[in-house]
Amino acid sequence: MNLIWFRNDLRVADNLALQQACNGGKVLAIYCFDPRQFSDLRFGFKKTSQYRAQFLIETVTELKQSLGQLNISLLIYHDKPENIIPKLISQYNINKVYLQKEWTSEEKTVADSVISASSKDVTFKSSYNQFLIHPEDIPYNDFKQIPEVFTNFRKACEAHLKIRPLIPIPEPLPKDNLVKNDTNVVELTDFGLDYFQLDYRSAFPWKGGELQALARVDEYLWKTKRLSVYKKTRNGLIGTDYSSKFSAWLANGSISPRTIYWQIKQFEKEIVKNESTYWLFFELLWRDFFKFVSLKHKNKIFQIKGISNESYQWENSKETLKMWIEGRTTSSFINANLKELALTGWMSNRGRQNVASFWSKELKQDWRIGASYFESMLIDYDVHSNWCNWMYTSGVGNDPRNRKFNPSRQATVYDPQGKFQNLWLQPTLF
Ligand SMILES: Cc1cc2nc3c(=O)[nH]c(=O)nc-3n(C[C@H](O)[C@H](O)[C@H](O)COP(=O)(O)OP(=O)(O)OC[C@H]3O[C@@H](n4cnc5c(N)ncnc54)[C@H](O)[C@@H]3O)c2cc1C
Repeated sequence: MNLIWFRNDLRVADNLALQQACNGGKVLAIYCFDPRQFSDLRFGFKKTSQYRAQFLIETVTELKQSLGQLNISLLIYHDKPENIIPKLISQYNINKVYLQKEWTSEEKTVADSVISASSKDVTFKSSYNQFLIHPEDIPYNDFKQIPEVFTNFRKACEAHLKIRPLIPIPEPLPKDNLVKNDTNVVELTDFGLDYFQLDYRSAFPWKGGELQALARVDEYLWKTKRLSVYKKTRNGLIGTDYSSKFSAWLANGSISPRTIYWQIKQFEKEIVKNESTYWLFFELLWRDFFKFVSLKHKNKIFQIKGISNESYQWENSKETLKMWIEGRTTSSFINANLKELALTGWMSNRGRQNVASFWSKELKQDWRIGASYFESMLIDYDVHSNWCNWMYTSGVGNDPRNRKFNPSRQATVYDPQGKFQNLWLQPTLF
């Protein structure tokens, strides 16, 4: 029997690991809510907030149903994978385990622990499943050659652009592939997290899951055709439609970037091809770029000097941290963004750039503390995008210009009538 171990590739469409697992014989699937993902971070934050945890629960619930339609049982545990997978291997006579390849330290440690605790007769086959451009198709022979500057990477990739076709959903397996399954999706309280009500102002009101992701693509591209004006609206701050909001589904892999890419191409054929349709592709390239930066620089992306090896005099003040988190800084634009994040798990790209720059360049606080807070709170937390963007904004990453944002100027340009600030600075939170 083959086992597919789902991690951040929580979908049935365009999933190489699933396709390979279904290539003959019986298939069993597993997902572990790893308690380490719900513990405390180094800087004292809970590693996963209630917003992302809820989104993940919804995603896994949907995945179980979609796999059920393929007659594949998804066993769900609230335990460390290394405690469960080796046992399943002996219980079900598994000889091959398929999984998405991860390289950041925590994810790699978990995979290594599973492998070393499992029978030596089992083969583990991991594959890249999270990129727009497959790592074998980039115009570099070695990750060491990945340029430090995005524009150089983008131009080289565009000159040799190869985006692989989508991998179809596997055909349903015979009914006798199903196994007895007493496991259930967990609840927020199992992680020590509280239930919450969606804030009516949330710019991200959707649920997790592959079908929800596809519905959002349908809405953003085909129903409202907002893609055709994306470049003009993408710096917005209020509401659901100023940008695609695909990030949370991309982050846990309930949609693949290739699915979005091929939908953009279809949109360009059927509706319009313009700078906005190009720009969504351009942003997906940024996402890939940071994954390649992390493949190149490994754990440096988590270290204080970052990938540029810059030393600054970083502060570490608990009072400043509390003030920043609670939105009590000297800038109401920064405060509004931080309140939005605390109340919803969401912040716009414009907000993230400003808030991060304020933390590291104005308050001069250790950038890794800010990055850890984002890791805790964001619905769309993605290890590469978060840490590389934080390095970029904090002067230890790939920004050749090392810019500092001026929040009052930014507020004048992006929130000229103060609507965004008024929306979040009502006295409801602390
Ligand atoms: C300090 C900081 C931290 C961030 N942390 C994360 C994170 O944890 N997870 C995350 O997905 N994004 C992160 N971003 C990038 C970006 O802010 C979000 O991807 C974007 O706001 C998500 O909204 P959207 O899906 O509507 O994006 P759109 O503008 O519609 O863009 C489409 C997609 O392109 C990708 N993308 C866009 N901008 C970036 C970028 N700067 N870097 C990488 N990919 C990008 C995302 O996958 C996004 O879904 C961070 C940015 C900053 C400045």
